[in-house]
Amino acid sequence: MLAPHSLLESQLPGPPFHASLQRALREQQTLLDSAGVGIVFLRQRCVVRCNQRYAEIFGYDHPEELNELTTETFYPSREAFRDLGRAAYPVLAQGETYRVERPLRRRDGTLFWGSLTGRLINPQDTSEGSIWIVDDIDAQRRAQAALDAAVREKQLLFDSAMVGIVFIRDRRLTRCNHHFEQMLGYQPGELAGCSSRQWYASDAAWHEAGARCYPQLAAGHSYEGELELCRKDGTPVICEVRSKAIDPANPSQGSIWITMDITERKAAQAVLARTHEELERQVQDRTRELRETVDNLHREINERKADQDRIYWLAHYDALTGLPNRTLLAERAQQAIRVAQESGTPLAVIFLDLDHFKHVNDSLGHRVGDALLVEIAKRLRAVVRDKDTVSRLGGDEFILLLPGANAHGAARVAGKLQDASRQHYQIAHHELTMAPSMGIALFPQDGADFDTLTQSADVAMYRAKLDGRNTFKFFTPEMQAQSVRALQLENALRRALERGQLHLHYQPQMSLATGAVHSVEALLRWQHPQLGDVSPAEFIPIAEDSGQILQIGEWVLRTALSQLKIWRATAFPGLTMAVNLSAIQFRQPQLPELVSRMLSEFQLPPDCLELELTEGVAVDDPHAAVSTMDQLHARGVRMSMDDFGTGYSSLSQLKRFQIFKLKIDQSFVRDLGNDTNDRAIVSAIIRMAQALGMRTTAEGVETAGQLSFLREQGCDEAQGYHFSKPLSAPELEAFMRRQLT
Ligand code: C2E
Ligand code: MG
Ligand code: MG
Repeated sequence: MLAPHSLLESQLPGPPFHASLQRALREQQTLLDSAGVGIVFLRQRCVVRCNQRYAEIFGYDHPEELNELTTETFYPSREAFRDLGRAAYPVLAQGETYRVERPLRRRDGTLFWGSLTGRLINPQDTSEGSIWIVDDIDAQRRAQAALDAAVREKQLLFDSAMVGIVFIRDRRLTRCNHHFEQMLGYQPGELAGCSSRQWYASDAAWHEAGARCYPQLAAGHSYEGELELCRKDGTPVICEVRSKAIDPANPSQGSIWITMDITERKAAQAVLARTHEELERQVQDRTRELRETVDNLHREINERKADQDRIYWLAHYDALTGLPNRTLLAERAQQAIRVAQESGTPLAVIFLDLDHFKHVNDSLGHRVGDALLVEIAKRLRAVVRDKDTVSRLGGDEFILLLPGANAHGAARVAGKLQDASRQHYQIAHHELTMAPSMGIALFPQDGADFDTLTQSADVAMYRAKLDGRNTFKFFTPEMQAQSVRALQLENALRRALERGQLHLHYQPQMSLATGAVHSVEALLRWQHPQLGDVSPAEFIPIAEDSGQILQIGEWVLRTALSQLKIWRATAFPGLTMAVNLSAIQFRQPQLPELVSRMLSEFQLPPDCLELELTEGVAVDDPHAAVSTMDQLHARGVRMSMDDFGTGYSSLSQLKRFQIFKLKIDQSFVRDLGNDTNDRAIVSAIIRMAQALGMRTTAEGVETAGQLSFLREQGCDEAQGYHFSKPLSAPELEAFMRRQLT
């Protein structure tokens, strides 16, 4: 390599001058070598000399390699080379420094940005050439380009962001994007330098927002939250805000705020919330309604179930006593019959009817009657076993179903029922006794099914009634026929009065002292066109059971009194009339009143009427009987005790009765001729009557022998076929007239 100074030295003149020149040249060479930039001397646009750096910039190892090279080599194209020449020449010619940055070309052909600074060595003489300083600014240019791109991108982001971006320093806007201005309704640039107070509704709101956000920013945190801002026109904007200090350590750097208008979103959310709330409320309402409906449904179902239970109960039980009714009885009976059939075990049915229950209803009222039935039901239930059924058919009729009971067992139950009924029932202040008449039917002989069994038991019960009540009877086939007749009679009897089938016969009662007819007894007769003459002994109990006796009895009393009125008005002024009174009539509270009214109707004195009672009148309620007797006695009406000796009257009872006369029952009179017992009884009755101040009449006197015994014993009157059968009114009148003569 050739040292630069040796070249310079060889071209330079003389020694003194030469030394200083050489020194200047060395200094220049040092300068060139140590310069950090490329330096080149050109003449005629060719390299005269360059330094090491210049060679390096263009990819050469030694500056000498570039000597004589045209500078076109360093440009990307001939065009670029010429362009530069054209641009540089006028400036250089002025003696000024020309500066430019251009793409240049290295030795290997790669391009790079270089900065060129040129100047003519002697502006007056361009042939002296120029000096250029060249620097490789490629890296610098690339960095600048990258920086420019980044800045452009940022600006683009800033300008086209869909959020408001604001830079604030000391609560004043330093910069904001267009979106922020738009959001608050300002023109571009209108907010520049403004205090942020501008977009708050009030000082208070501004201070409050500051107090909320800045401590966070100062602490290095970002603030995220909602702020209510205010548009230029005063309308509120709700913003979601995110803010951060640019440099938390240096608050004076300010902060950046990203804001987003969420007013619509908030409104939509509010609407949504309201809708949701409304929906929730509706759901709750519907749920409540549904719950109520379900509750109502439950209640209705329960009520319906209770109704159904009640309906079932009413359909199967007797409302008054709570006992099973006929329907339930029939169900149980059918079941019991099946079991009896399959297992060959016995089964009994008892039909129970209370004796004279109707009197309780008639005289004491239905309340007492009902209360009595309830007590009786309890007593019946207490007597039987659990597996037995006690049912009430209505009225005073009960049916007992006794599975497993044979004749013996049924009789025992019937006996127990009788025993139970002997104790009185206390209903309010009434002491009542109520005896049952019972009929028993056995499976299978008296009926193979429920209906037949109960019918048979009913028939047997009826027979028990006819046989003096307060008893029980087993069903027999003969009873069947009799009961059919009883039913026939009951039906026929309903029409008997209106069809004029009833009339009275009269039987004289003879005074034993005078032999004259002292009084006559009215005896009821029923002539039915098909059934013929029906005995009062047969139809009176039926009339009593069916309640027809009251109407019939009243008719008898009126007819007898009207006849007496005629007879007394004609030939027999002292004649008295005996009228039989059923116990049921006697228990009528209005009886004394009825009797008095009828006597006055016929203008007859009360003592011309004699009411024949039976001992049965006092059985159920002795107090009431005594009271009625007292009332009748007070009205002057006479009473006689019919069929005396067959009933249960005690002497102590008799004493209290206002009885005028005892009629000795014909059963004692019949055998007076040969039965010493009857003689004793009859004479005892007569003496007892005398002792009590009562008169006596003997019934059923058929023979002279009977008559003479009675006369001997001091009997007052006699009645019987010996004197006369019961006769029609005209016949009796004829009889009496014969007696008078
Ligand atoms: P009673 O009041 O004891 O009547 C006497 C019954 O004996 C009458 O039967 C009569 O015909 C019958 N008799 C009379 N003398 C003799 C006799 O010498 N020998 C026999 N064997 N019998 C004689 P009758 O008329 O059939 O009446 C039967 C019963 O019917 C009566 O018994 C009486 O209890 C009842 N009765 C009759 N008429 C009425 C009435 O109008 N009202 C009521 N409640 N009962 C009446
Ligand atoms: Mg009589
Ligand atoms: Mg009699």
